[in-house]
Parts: sequence; C-alpha cells; structure tokens
Amino acid sequence: LEANFSVIQEKDGPINGLITVLHDVTEQEKIEHERREFVANVSHELRTPLTTMKSYLEALEDGAMSDKELGPRFLSVTQNETERMIRLVNDLLQLSKIDTKDYKLKFQSVDVGLFLHDIIDRFEMIAEEKEITFTRKIPAKPTYAKMAADKMTQVIDNVISNAMKYSPEGGNITIAMLHQGHQLQISISDQGMGIPRESQAKIFDRFYRVDKARARSVGGTGLGLAIAKELIHAHKGEIWAESEYGKGTTIFFTLPYYAMKEGGR
Ligand code: ADP
Repeated sequence: LEANFSVIQEKDGPINGLITVLHDVTEQEKIEHERREFVANVSHELRTPLTTMKSYLEALEDGAMSDKELGPRFLSVTQNETERMIRLVNDLLQLSKIDTKDYKLKFQSVDVGLFLHDIIDRFEMIAEEKEITFTRKIPAKPTYAKMAADKMTQVIDNVISNAMKYSPEGGNITIAMLHQGHQLQISISDQGMGIPRESQAKIFDRFYRVDKARARSVGGTGLGLAIAKELIHAHKGEIWAESEYGKGTTIFFTLPYYAMKEGGR
C-alpha cells in the first residue's frame, strides 16, 4: 500500500483534519507488469516473422531469385510471414477495440441451433481432407438467444479451428448444446492431444500457448482464445476448458438464454 496525506487547513487557521489516500500499489504494479509483458510479447511476435523475411529476401537478392525452384519457394515463405503479421495485427486491433470502455455489441435474437448447424456445415466442407467427422448434439426445438451473431461466429470458428488443428487425422469433433436453467451451454470436444492440467486456465490468456513452436507452425497468433474469452464475457457468459492430456479437449461456454415464444423474435 502507498499512502498520500493532505492537511485540511484554512488560511493560517487551525488544522481541521487530515485526508489519507491509500493506493493499492500491488494492483497497480500487477497491471504495469502485465502491460510490459504484453508489449514484449507483441514485439517478439512481430520480430520473428520480420527476421525470417529479412533472411529470405537477402537470399533472394544473393541469387536465389534466378533459381527456378528456390525463387518461388522463398517468395512464398515471405508471403506466409506477411500473412501471419496481418493476422496478428488484426487480432491486436480487435483486442484493443474490445478493451475500450465503451465497447458495445449489437445484439439480435438468433435461433442458436440453426446458427450452430450453419457453422458446422461450413467446417464439414473444409474438414474432408483431414477426414475429420462432426457429431451434432443439438436439440431440434428452436432455442433463441440474444447475441452478436458475427462475434459469436468468430468465437465458434476459433474454437472449432483449434479442435481441427489439434485433432488427429480421422478424428471426431462433437458439438453439443444443452439448456441449464437460464443458461445455454455449448461445448466443442475433440480427440486431439489434449492440454496439461496446469495450462487449462492459461490458454485463454493473451499469447499463451502450450507448445510455442508447434502452435506457431500451425499458424496461430496465440490470441484466438483470448479474443473468444472477451467476446463471451461481453455476452455475459463464461468459457473454460476441460481436457485429458493425450485424450482430447472440450471447450465449454455459456450464454444467457431468454425463453421466447416459439418462432418469436
Ligand atoms: P493459437 O493461435 O496458438 O491457436 P489460441 O488462443 O487459439 O492460440 O490457443 C492457445 C493455445 O491453447 C494453443 O496454442 C494451444 O496450445 C492450446 N489449445 C487450444 N485449443 C486446443 C485444443 N483443442 N487442443 C489442444 N490444445 C489447444
């Protein structure tokens, strides 16, 4: 704790009182520490693709450009690194928008079941090459919830993309939805490598990755789940992971659910 004292005293008169202001320095220090760590992370994440690009561009300049095989290959590496930086900067911009005090979502009434089916249909198209199958446990009865559909699409896209990234070939991904009182619980389970217990809460932190090298090689920014957490909180829901290392992972999230007349809006 840090204390500031001010004396209350009329001009040359007697001292009437004393104001003491106590600051929680530890909280301030924690915020400052997190801020510094965040800046260090961002710098590192940008420096890695930039250094890679620099050395490939130098190699191209030193003659690789006229090599029929190396030329296009080195160019495509620099292109991939550029794309990674664009993804990173876009994610950072989105987080900084969410972090502002007056961040507001545009809510609309959505039939959550149909909404989930549409997203899974889209993933089924791209999952074929890895032979991943999807199981849907979604009640047929319409269930409406208030949500910012584009943001919720982003959350689910992120979680299903992770499930696919960390799934073995031929794996199954199950998407389930159930009612729990005034909450809807949605879960996405995979049969992938899993997440060690001590990391399960941390994967929602900015830039946290269980295996940095591997995560980078599959193209992640380390911000996907951090963005998902902020967006779910903006919907007044919770998000968490349960996982058995080596067996698979389930990401759960909740949404407040408003019972509505069937077909109602
Ligand atoms: P990334 O861009 O690295 O995927 P995320 O924020 O989406 O970043 O995820 C953070 C980390 O959580 C990942 O790097 C990975 O280590 C771990 N993770 C997320 N989803 C899964 C999953 N389904 N199975 C195993 N590990 C996962």
